[in-house]
Amino acid sequence: MPHTDHGRTFADRMERLRQTMGRSGVDVTLVSVGADLPWLTGYRAMPLERLTMLVVPVDGAATMFVPRLEVPRVVERPEVFDVVGWDETTDPVRLVAEAAAGAGTVAIGDQTWARFLVDLQTQLPGAAWRRASSLLGPLRAVKDAAEIEGLRLAGAAVDRIAAELQAGAIPLVGRTEADVSEELSRRILAEGHERTNFAIVAAGENAASPHHHASERVIAAGEIVLCDFGGTFPLGDSGVGYCSDITRCVHVGEPSSEVAEMYAVLQDAQERAVAAAVVGTPAGDVDGVARSLIAEGGYDGLFIHRLGHGIGVEEHEDPYLVAGNDEPLVEGNAFSIEPGIYAAGRWGARIEDIVVATVDGPLRLNTADHGLAVVES
Ligand code: ZN
Ligand code: ZN
Ligand code: ZN
Repeated sequence: MPHTDHGRTFADRMERLRQTMGRSGVDVTLVSVGADLPWLTGYRAMPLERLTMLVVPVDGAATMFVPRLEVPRVVERPEVFDVVGWDETTDPVRLVAEAAAGAGTVAIGDQTWARFLVDLQTQLPGAAWRRASSLLGPLRAVKDAAEIEGLRLAGAAVDRIAAELQAGAIPLVGRTEADVSEELSRRILAEGHERTNFAIVAAGENAASPHHHASERVIAAGEIVLCDFGGTFPLGDSGVGYCSDITRCVHVGEPSSEVAEMYAVLQDAQERAVAAAVVGTPAGDVDGVARSLIAEGGYDGLFIHRLGHGIGVEEHEDPYLVAGNDEPLVEGNAFSIEPGIYAAGRWGARIEDIVVATVDGPLRLNTADHGLAVVES
């Protein structure tokens, strides 16, 4: 796509941010490092000690203050924002404070470095502060067609890796978890991602730790191996990438009846939670569907995390599928459905797909087989 097409997308996002600011009584939004900036402008700021900050007044032109040496990296989109490069001897906080002068309420990006927030609070003593995620979270949670296409491409890429794993094309026995994790990372890049975000490989009792860090433990026959991996997939030349995130388990040799029974309960819970993720259903209710099936199956208390998280330019973003979140799912929400059952010290399993809420019902972006594949080695 030519840059002008992306420019229209970014201009539209900026306009929707301004509308939300108007409704919420926010005079200025400040966006620095993190995912909000590329989502709004296509520009990814390096997490430097030098300040990059986009200043968006509720009415008036947006300005991006960028360290002079970073200006060549910015794809200029004059219809969306102006670029101001600041020199090494300039105080960039003062520039931002001048651009935001007189604002009564300022929203600031959640991942802005505290040093800049503290200095801005000093230079804008009259302002009330709130988190920009309260404005941008709900906007980013509703994906447009191009974003869903980005997520679909990312999902298809990791599906191909999962299929190789299930076919036994990725050797396991005798290798360390870390070694297999490195292979998954390489495959994530080879499948077109620009970056690997994580590649959890957890064997046997390690699979009971949901965010296990792949270790030097050697994988043996007779074990379950949980693999949870994903990366960021570039969406054309837009400057923005979309994330993949999939979990599949394989078993080296036939599983015990205990593991097979547990896995059957888990697979049913995941399937039925996906089916429950329809537009209008409160996000927390979808978590409840999986949680009660797992409890009824005899594993009460062993599903120790929320059901899922939104996904987009970040791996974890709104909406969160967690008890207590009464926000109904809306068309365009994209999120993981990832129930797990974890028996500490013995085994664990999780099944994860990315799902989009559409008017025609839940659409899975991961279709790799959901069963517990038995691999020989
Ligand atoms: Zn996680
Ligand atoms: Zn995951
Ligand atoms: Zn996830």
